[in-house]
Amino acid sequence: MDAAEWSVDEIAKTLRESHLVTWGATGAVDPIQIAQGDGVYFTDTAGKRYLDWNSGAMCSNLGHTVPEEVIEAVVEQMRAAPYAYPCHTTVPIKAKLGRLMQELMPGDLNHFFYTCGGAESNEAALRMAKLFTGRSKVMARYRSYHGGSAATMALTGDPRRWTAEPAMGNVIRVFDPDPYHVSFGKTEEEIVANNLTHLREVIQYEGGHNIMAFFLESVTGTNGVLKPPAGYLEGVRAICDEHGILMVCDEVMAGFWRTGEPFGFMHSDPMIVPDIVTMAKGINGAFVPLGAVAVRDHIAEHFMDHPISIGTTYNSHPVGLASAYAALKHSLATGIGANAKAMEPVMQKHMNELADKHPAVRAARSVGLFGMVDLQKNSAGEPFVTYNGPPSPAIAAFNKELRENGLFTLFRWSSFMCNPPLIINEEQIAEAFDIIDRSFAPIDDAFEG
Ligand code: PLP
Repeated sequence: MDAAEWSVDEIAKTLRESHLVTWGATGAVDPIQIAQGDGVYFTDTAGKRYLDWNSGAMCSNLGHTVPEEVIEAVVEQMRAAPYAYPCHTTVPIKAKLGRLMQELMPGDLNHFFYTCGGAESNEAALRMAKLFTGRSKVMARYRSYHGGSAATMALTGDPRRWTAEPAMGNVIRVFDPDPYHVSFGKTEEEIVANNLTHLREVIQYEGGHNIMAFFLESVTGTNGVLKPPAGYLEGVRAICDEHGILMVCDEVMAGFWRTGEPFGFMHSDPMIVPDIVTMAKGINGAFVPLGAVAVRDHIAEHFMDHPISIGTTYNSHPVGLASAYAALKHSLATGIGANAKAMEPVMQKHMNELADKHPAVRAARSVGLFGMVDLQKNSAGEPFVTYNGPPSPAIAAFNKELRENGLFTLFRWSSFMCNPPLIINEEQIAEAFDIIDRSFAPIDDAFEG
């Protein structure tokens, strides 16, 4: 039978009988069956339309309608050369993409290694860092996510790593400048100074000469949408330089104009240049799987006469490369970065109005169109769900209301994401906040005052 002829119930039943979902318990989720994408919206098989307030998995930066030139580029590549053995053969589009990526990247981040996604990019960066430095330990932060593969789970700080433990050894975990983590101070200056002191002390105890790299999200994503306070990235860069530790910025979520700038680390002042940058998601709007690693000249130079010792069948997949080249050209021509910047104050205005109206909003922030709203169950700031704590019925009911009213987003404990596609306009942002406001009753009712 043609799937188009299946009833909504038949599809749901067959999906339950034939698939497992990611991360969650398969029986506990009832996934939305997306039938059709349309800009910042998608429609399910029953014809219900949702505004996508999370860009899928924070990746559909160009929304759910593929630009015609991306479709053409993909079809053309499939017709011309659909596959190339990644080491011994290649395709001309790789040269064009390389030049374009060099134009996007600052400093001497001139050399690229293409993967199938974020975890694979971080795996590759880790291998390169080990081979380049010859060192044995790696440093990462608690409020981080670097991917679902074995080594990237070990780098990850958030609780998703717990089920993967015992994990790869030799990972040193340090704290990050989280505004709610008061043990490092109350003001931004104190938090930055104390975090950098903590980092220096940990490095001293571990031996800086043993540490190959420090992996960090330049703007923390799922664990809080946290832009580092002024001076933090610049301080990390200096400490890494002192010890010959490679600074690896994970731009998988923050990259490609999510924050308004091409990359999150570009908010530093003076702008730092990481040694390695890992990417995926927004590189091509996630229309087909693709990731990338950018390395600076001195690292690429090393691999000219030393084996890189990493690769997969799908590395540098021609169709992925073609999609990225066309999607990046489209993004530059249509100015999605400028739009993300212009929409930031619109988002912030609506967030402030939401907070004024609902005392259960503890804080809300957006860097470009990378946003999050934190909820509290009382005015003392207690969250509805603590970090990895048990679920809250009020949050579940709120999420149900949002879906019923036509908005899809992601909840992280007591917070929800505000990461729409970067093509969103003012009216659509207003529409989203109208739905959020209309869905707020379960949270208002549960607020204890
Ligand atoms: N790094 C960061 C910062 C991410 O947000 C993610 C995914 O959300 C990853 C790495 C892993 O990327 P992927 O899911 O494509 O493997």
